[in-house]
Amino acid sequence: MNPSFFLCAAYFILGLIAGSFFNVCIYRMPRGLSILKPRSHCPECNSGISWYDNIPLISYIFLKGKCRKCGKRIKSLYFIVEFLTAVLFLSAYLCSDSVPETIFKIVLFSVLIIASFIDIQHFIIPDESSAAGFVFALFMSVLFPYLHGRDIWYLGLSDSLMGAFAGFSALGFVSFAGSRILKKEAMGFGDVKFIAVIGAFVGWELALFTIMMASLIGAVLSGSFMLLKNRNLKGRIPFGPYLALGAVIAVLWGQDLMNWYLYDILRYG
Ligand SMILES: [Zn+2]
Repeated sequence: MNPSFFLCAAYFILGLIAGSFFNVCIYRMPRGLSILKPRSHCPECNSGISWYDNIPLISYIFLKGKCRKCGKRIKSLYFIVEFLTAVLFLSAYLCSDSVPETIFKIVLFSVLIIASFIDIQHFIIPDESSAAGFVFALFMSVLFPYLHGRDIWYLGLSDSLMGAFAGFSALGFVSFAGSRILKKEAMGFGDVKFIAVIGAFVGWELALFTIMMASLIGAVLSGSFMLLKNRNLKGRIPFGPYLALGAVIAVLWGQDLMNWYLYDILRYG
């Protein structure tokens, strides 16, 4: 599929609109509020937000990051989520060969964004987003087995289930062993369910790749944080965002990285 400028712009704008909706999900889901009603309002002064103050990115820049009514700061998080979603939707389009593949990746990226931004703030990954993502991944794998490089529906389905199982058991084992060694919960069960969802999208090889990338990024980032702040990280660290980051790398470059490693380095040393 040759990328066209028009479609690039369309996916970017679609991402901005979706990101604006994800902000609503990220704020409301962990608080048990409905994501459909009521309309958006300022969390500080509770006044409703007009449509012209609710345009992704643009309104934030025009309002200089402040509420029109009360002048309190709007979290830059809203801006970041919108921009990140747009960039990921565009990348999903650019690295896909068909429309179903683009949609498959867009839904995965959406689940990753919602789950990791809720995890950062509340240390939970909501079951609703994980369950919805899991069902969608299975459904698409049956309908379009070529998403896993297969041509028969039950092979697509088994690849998807294998991916979920591989991720679930690998991280489940780490979690179990970790809590035995540390004598406290090392990793939330939400993270284990989360990698199962990722595995259902990407298959078992990239699911394991995702866990490796997440551990690597997590170790480097928390290590440098401890060096910079000169103190130990206390309490639980949300692992969800690292898994999400690992999954994005897996989807966009995982296959290339694995081929490079397996064929160039192992074979020719
Ligand atoms: Zn306000």
